[in-house]
Amino acid sequence: MEPINVLLLGSTGSIGTQTLEIIRANPEKFRVVGVTANSNCELLAKQIRDFKPEFAVIANEGKLAQLRELTGQTETELCSGYDEILDRCTDAKYDVLLNALVGFSGFLPTVKALKSGKKVALANKESLVVGGELLSSYTKDGIKNLIPVDSEHSAILQCLVGEEQNPIEKLLITASGGPFRTTPLEEMKNITVEKALKHPNWSMGSKITIDSATMMNKGLEIIEAYWLYNLPIENIEAVIHPQSIIHSMVTFKDGSTKAQMGYPDMKVPIQYALTWPDRIPLDTPRMDFSTLNELTFSEVDYERFPCLRLALNAISEGGFAPAILNAANEIAVHRFLNKDIPYIHIPVIVERSLAKIQPTVNLTIETLMEADTEARAFAASIRV
Ligand code: NDP
Ligand code: MG
Repeated sequence: MEPINVLLLGSTGSIGTQTLEIIRANPEKFRVVGVTANSNCELLAKQIRDFKPEFAVIANEGKLAQLRELTGQTETELCSGYDEILDRCTDAKYDVLLNALVGFSGFLPTVKALKSGKKVALANKESLVVGGELLSSYTKDGIKNLIPVDSEHSAILQCLVGEEQNPIEKLLITASGGPFRTTPLEEMKNITVEKALKHPNWSMGSKITIDSATMMNKGLEIIEAYWLYNLPIENIEAVIHPQSIIHSMVTFKDGSTKAQMGYPDMKVPIQYALTWPDRIPLDTPRMDFSTLNELTFSEVDYERFPCLRLALNAISEGGFAPAILNAANEIAVHRFLNKDIPYIHIPVIVERSLAKIQPTVNLTIETLMEADTEARAFAASIRV
C-alpha cells in the first residue's frame, strides 16, 4: 500500500505535534509532504530535520532567515508567508490536509483544499463556525471530504458507521465543564489566566483551553456539528460529563443511544481522521472498567457559561453572526490572555460585537472576511 501523503498545517501546535507522533509511529502508512508554523522556527526546523518534508512554510515572513539558519543543510524547500500556505493547499500533491491551525487563520486553507477536491482532516473547528454555510456547498455529498478531528465529532462519526440509512434523532455532545464548573458564581470575577489555563482533563493550545473554560468551545462545537451532521439545532445538545470518557453520543429514531468512549487522548481522533473508515493500531491506554468508578452527567448551566448561549443564538440567527461571534471571541480571549480584560468580560465583548456588527450584504468569502476584520477591530476597541 502506498503511504498517505499528509500536508500538515500548524505542525508546531498541540494537534500538529501529536499528528507527527502518529506519523512517526507509522512510517510505512504516512508521509509528511509539508509542515507549517506561524513563528516557532526552532521546532519547525527540528521537524524538517526529522521528517524531511518536501516543503515547509513559516507564516511570519521575518522569520525565514532564522528558519534557514536553524535548519542547516536540507533538501526541504523553505518558504514564508500566509499566502504561500494557501497556495500549497491548492497546488501541492497530497492526499489529505490536516488543518491544525488555530482560529480564523484556518478558514481559507479549508476553502482552498475543498475547492481543489482534496480531503480535509479538520481540527480547525473555526473553519466551520465562520464559513459553515459556504463550506457546506463543497461537502454536499456527505462528509466524505471533510473529516472531523475534534474528539466529539469523531465520536459521532464513529457512532454513525453502518448507520448510513438511519436518520439521527439527537446528538449529545459531551463537555467536561472545564475548571470552573463548580466555582461559586460570585468568585467568577476573580478568575486568573493561570487558573483558566488549567484544564482538568486535556492539555491543549491556549486559545482552545480558554474556550473550554468559558464553554465557548462547546458552542463552537455545536455549530461545527450542525454543519457536519445536518440536523436542526434543537436536536444537538450539550451534556456536562466531567470525566471526559464518553466523547459524544447519537440517539436514533428507535430510542437507541450509541456512545464512543476512551481515556482523553487526541491521538485517537487524529489518527481516525487520517485512516477513516479504517482503524490501525495505536499505543494508548485501554479502558479499565475495574478502576473506573463513575460516569456522571448533568445539564449545562447557562448563567455560569453565557458564551454557550451566545453561540447558540448566533447559529440560530445564521448569516454573519457565527463569524462575528468567532472574531470577537478570538480578540476577547487574546485580551484576557494578555491580562487586558477580566475573564467575565469575554462574553460581554462577544455580545456587544454581535449587537454592533450586522452586515446587510450577501454572504460570500470576501464579505465574510470583511465582517471578520470589522468585528476584530470593534472587539479590540471595547472598554467595558
Ligand atoms: P496551538 O495554538 O497549539 O497551535 C496552533 C498552530 O497554528 C501552531 O502551529 C501555530 O504556529 C500555528 N498558527 C497560529 N496562528 C497562525 C497564523 N495566523 N498563521 C499560520 N499559522 C498559525 O493550537 P491547537 O493545536 O490547540 O489547536 C488547533 C486547532 O485544533 C484549533 O482550531 C482547536 O480548536 C482545535 N482543537 C484542538 C484540540 C487540542 O487538543 N489541542 C482538540 C480539539 C480541537 P506557532 O507554533 O509558530 O505559533
Ligand atoms: Mg472537542
